[in-house]
Amino acid sequence: MIPISTQQEDLYLKQRRAMVDTQLRRRGIRDERVLEAMLQVPRHEFVLDSYRAQAYEDHPIPIGEDQTVSQPFIVAVCLQALELKETESVLEIGTGSGYQTALLALLARNVYTVERHPSLAHIAEATLGRLGLTNIRLAVGDGSQGWREYSPYDAVLVSAAAPRIPQSLLEQLSGTGRMVIPVGTQHTQELQLIRKRGGEYSAETLEGCRFVPLVGTEGF
Ligand code: SAH
Repeated sequence: MIPISTQQEDLYLKQRRAMVDTQLRRRGIRDERVLEAMLQVPRHEFVLDSYRAQAYEDHPIPIGEDQTVSQPFIVAVCLQALELKETESVLEIGTGSGYQTALLALLARNVYTVERHPSLAHIAEATLGRLGLTNIRLAVGDGSQGWREYSPYDAVLVSAAAPRIPQSLLEQLSGTGRMVIPVGTQHTQELQLIRKRGGEYSAETLEGCRFVPLVGTEGF
């Protein structure tokens, strides 16, 4: 007899494979490191028990405090655009469940992440610890001004919507830094990729999107 828990894990792995094939590869996600990371990270560990059965579905999921973990496809679009190397450091604003933090931990050397809700930060920290990820530093507070102490960052990923690109975050990018951030109103935004090179910034729009608001000094 196979223990129930193993059967359950097999089921989640099957769902994860299907998610990677149908929601990501088929829609144009090509970065093999991103696809592999999304195959590895157990998304069901990051949602409340009552949402586990939906963990691999094609939509965002509530995580408490009126926040959500983003749809897998949007997470993949953000990660692919950042082109992270395993030697790089990355700053994430909006830890939420910690799901995307775990993915970043597999793709980069050091991950710094800031969450404004203490309750979400504590749950995320516990989940990330349980999974044995040790290259993550988490802070509770307003991340709209970044986290100057460990800057500059090779990449910044903002997973909450900003009315405009926070100046502090631009300043904390390295000389060849990239930033992905949803910019717009509280209801609808464009996902923007900012690239820094030779002291200049360029911007590109990736997707239309809808994130929860970035609440803070340089947010809403
Ligand atoms: N990446 C997360 C998605 C969380 S939703 C995940 O994988 O689960 C966005 C998160 O941003 C929410 O948890 C919200 O509380 C947080 N947030 C909003 N404004 C913030 C700010 N100024 N600083 C830090 N976190 C913020």
